[in-house]
Amino acid sequence: VGNPHEDEVSFLDHAKWNEVLPHLYVQTGGGVNGPRHRIEATDEALKFVDIKTACVGCGRTHYPIKRRARWGTIYFSVTCSFGDKRSMQCRNGQAARTEADAIRAAIHGQPSEPNLFS
Ligand SMILES: [Zn+2]
Repeated sequence: VGNPHEDEVSFLDHAKWNEVLPHLYVQTGGGVNGPRHRIEATDEALKFVDIKTACVGCGRTHYPIKRRARWGTIYFSVTCSFGDKRSMQCRNGQAARTEADAIRAAIHGQPSEPNLFS
């Protein structure tokens, strides 16, 4: 719906999207390659770590709600992260950019902001 790439699967079409959305927020911070706008998730989003979806880059099934092993923080990833070359291409690809932009737009369109600074 309104997606110019018909063969791409967006998480915005996922059955659980409306439940996941309120737990997401955008974090802006310095990155190696310029400002980054990461899609982070609250601790409550942990209950969604079992959700599976297709990677927008390669179509492989992955878990978009991920927990950082080192920090224990939760984030949302539009692409797979199997640690192989393909995953790297997914992460840096145009499809990832398009999907992340769409998700960030949806987050900004939320009526209430989560408390980012608690
Ligand atoms: Zn992928």
